[in-house]
This record gives sequence, C-alpha cells and structure tokens, in this order.
Amino acid sequence: MVRRLQDEDYEAYIVGGSVRDLLMGKVPKDYDVATDATPEEVKTVFPRCRLIGRRFRLAHVRMMGTLIEVATFRGPQVTDNDDHKHQNGRILRDNVWGSLEQDAVRRDFTINALFLDPVKNEIRDFVGGYKDLSEHKLRLIGVARTRYREDPVRLLRAARFIAKLGVEPVPETADPITDMAPLLHDIPPARLFEEVCKLFMTGHAVRTWEALQRFQLTRALFPVLESEENSGRAKAGQLLIKALENTDQRIAVEKPVTPAFLLAAILWQPVQARAYTLQKSGLSVYAALGEAADEVLSRQVQRITIPRRFSVITRQIWTMQPRFKNTRGRRAKALLQERRFRAAYDFLLLRAVEDEALQTLCEHWTEAQRGVTLNTGQHRCDERSENGSRRRPRRRRQRRNTPSTAKS
Ligand code: ATP
Ligand code: MG
Repeated sequence: MVRRLQDEDYEAYIVGGSVRDLLMGKVPKDYDVATDATPEEVKTVFPRCRLIGRRFRLAHVRMMGTLIEVATFRGPQVTDNDDHKHQNGRILRDNVWGSLEQDAVRRDFTINALFLDPVKNEIRDFVGGYKDLSEHKLRLIGVARTRYREDPVRLLRAARFIAKLGVEPVPETADPITDMAPLLHDIPPARLFEEVCKLFMTGHAVRTWEALQRFQLTRALFPVLESEENSGRAKAGQLLIKALENTDQRIAVEKPVTPAFLLAAILWQPVQARAYTLQKSGLSVYAALGEAADEVLSRQVQRITIPRRFSVITRQIWTMQPRFKNTRGRRAKALLQERRFRAAYDFLLLRAVEDEALQTLCEHWTEAQRGVTLNTGQHRCDERSENGSRRRPRRRRQRRNTPSTAKS
C-alpha cells in the first residue's frame, strides 16, 4: 500500500502502534499509514476506500483482508480562540494538514511516533522514540501537562501502554497523571466506553487495572466505586481481580469476551452494598437488587456510556444471583432455561471466590447443567460461551463511522 502511494509521488509510511509493535517483536493487531496525500487524494489512489470520521478524518482501505487506516499528516493546531479548541485546552477537531515532522510531534508518546518506510526499509524518528523504545521508556511528546489537557484520554492511554508493553513512564510523563485525572470528566461518555473496552478487552486487563490504580484513574472512570481510605485507589475485591484474570485468559485462547460480564464484575461491589441497605429498609431481596442495579448503572452511565445491549445483560447477571438459591423444583428448572443462565452461573462462580459459603451452590449448579445436557442433549447453554456471549453473534447491521475508528 505504501508503495502504491509512493508510486503516485506521495510520501507514505507505516506509523504508530504497528511500528512500535514490530520493533518490539510483536505482531501488530492492525496497521496505520501516514501520508501527505489528503483523504480525497487517497481515494483517487484507492477508489474503493471509505472516508470516515469528523473529529479526525481518515481513509479506511481494505487490502488482503486487513483494514488499514490511512491518515494525512497533521499539523499544529491554530491556537488562539479558534473553534478547534475547547476553553480548557481540549482539542475538539484535528484536521489541519501538516508535514511529516509536524505529524510526528502531534502524536502522543515518543514510542508511538516512529515512521517506517517499508520500501526503503528505513525508520524516521523526530522525537527520540527509537531510543525510548529500546530503553522501555514511555515519554509524552512535548510539555506533559499541555498534552494531557489537549486530550485527557492520553492519561488512560499512558496506563494502557504501561500495562500492555511493560514500559515505564519517565517522571515528567508519570507525575501529572493523578492530579489531572479529573479532566476525564469532560470526555464524552461514548468515547470513554471505547477506551474502557481497549483497556480491559485486549488481553492485559489485570495489569491495566494495576496501572489505573497506581495513578488513581480508576475513580475517574468508575465514580460508583468506593475508595480505599487515603490511598485514592478504588476498592477492588478478589472477585474483580479474578474476573480480569479470566478475561485475559479467555483472550489468550481467543475465546469471546463481553463488556457486559466485565462491567457486572467491576460494578458489583456498589450494587451489592446498595442492595443490602435497601433490603434493610424493607425491600425484598429481588426488589432491592433490581433497584440497586438501576441506581448504580444510571450513575455510572453519566461517566461512561454502557450501550443498552450490554447493560441489559449486566443487570440480568446481577438480578439472577438470588435465584440460584432455589435449587429444586419448577423454579430451578426455569432458571436453567434462562437465556443468561450461563453468564449468571459464571458470575456465581466468581462470587464464590470471595464467599466460600457459595461453593456448595456452585457445585450444585455445575451438576445441574450436566443433567440437562445429558437428559435433553440440547440445553440452550450449549450455544453460549462461558461469559454469556453467543458464539455466533447475531448479525447486526454494521453502523458506519463507528466511534472506535475516529481518533485524535
Ligand atoms: P494499539 O496497539 O493499542 O492500537 P496504537 O498506538 O496503535 O496502540 P491507536 O489508538 O491505534 O494506538 O492509535 C494509532 C496512533 O495514533 C498512535 O500510535 C499515536 O501515534 C496516534 N494517536 C492515537 N491516539 C492519540 C491521541 N489521543 N493523541 C495523540 N496521538 C494519538
Ligand atoms: Mg493501533
């Protein structure tokens, strides 16, 4: 692809995470290309490409079964009082074209700003990223506070790269993070949902959680979680850590994972606490749990969007928990036939990590499922993966311009 662009006299490089991963001996999960061709010019070279994004316009080119994002070199933002910046310094749009070097310095971390020319087999490095990478250092380009203020999602990206790549932030990059965490409150909740999926569903959830805790970013993401006294970290029990471990293990063997289950684990502690209070004030176990689920979810979605297709499942996972106590009769049978049985059962297993008394109940339901599978041979759980996501996802019409593809 780069060669095709170069043949048309454009500059073109592989850039960003893909170069970084190649240099680290990892297989990149996707490739990004940077070029001096505008999106429209890219379209003339690759007529079948799609131009996407508003905040960050780019071209999507499909080649040999891979989706490649082709972005035009970006220049510096025009500063004073222009409509690209929010009052507090946040960049809202980023479609000012620039040179190769300008495109390097507008990137976030030095290790993400390397350009690889695969035709000449050459690396272009304007920011010392090559050295930082070889020393496993994470360094924000430019003045850290300004760069975090421009786009506070960089705070989360720092935690993600620390976890994913095992790099260590230099003090200038690490020091402002905790102080600046509240800036995440200004990020649109839908963008935060995309980020949270990247944080926890790319195979490094446990280490990412540790990094988020280290910089006290967990509270900014999940305001419903209680904090440990004085430490500024969110309270996280064994259940949550175990859920993150399971998620990483599933991804390692390419099993599907769903945000619904993960969110059920992350938000369980406040749901449980609230349900307990409501129960003491006279509500039934079921009513209290339902009410607590609604309260916690509605507070949480003010910070991070949780699409309904996930929050509905998260809620079901929680509200099915008391039903596991009915181990006999019609109700028990009905529970086994529930669409979300498997996800709720997996959640019960997780709860047993914190509450040993649940162990016998877990054994009962493990046995009960065997019974159903043997007797009928067609229990509905069979179609489902452990976390409740179906193996063959229902075909949804793909939305165009999904937010995950728009970057700054
Ligand atoms: P991953 O391997 O997790 O995808 P990545 O570095 O490729 O990591 P992307 O989100 O795919 O991350 O972004 C591609 C590149 O775009 C980054 O390497 C970086 O150069 C640039 N970039 C992405 N997000 C930002 C941002 N918020 N601010 C500045 N530059 C960014
Ligand atoms: Mg990438």
